[in-house]
Amino acid sequence: MGEILKFKARRASERHRGNTLCRNGHHLWKVEKEPVFDVKQGKLVSRYCCKRCGKTKVRAD
Ligand SMILES: [Zn+2]
Repeated sequence: MGEILKFKARRASERHRGNTLCRNGHHLWKVEKEPVFDVKQGKLVSRYCCKRCGKTKVRAD
C-alpha cells in the first residue's frame, strides 16, 4: 500500500515538473504522423505532438 502511494506521489510531481517545462517552452515533442509533402511549402513536413500537454506543431524537414 505504501509503495503505491509513493508511486502516485512521484507520478504527480513528474507531471507537475513536465507542465512547468511546457510553460517554459520545453515541450516533449513526439512525431504524431509520418511526414507528408506540403504543396504550399514545397517540402516534407512532420506533425509533432507534445506528450505532456498535447500541444501540436508542424515542422518542415
Ligand atoms: Zn508540452
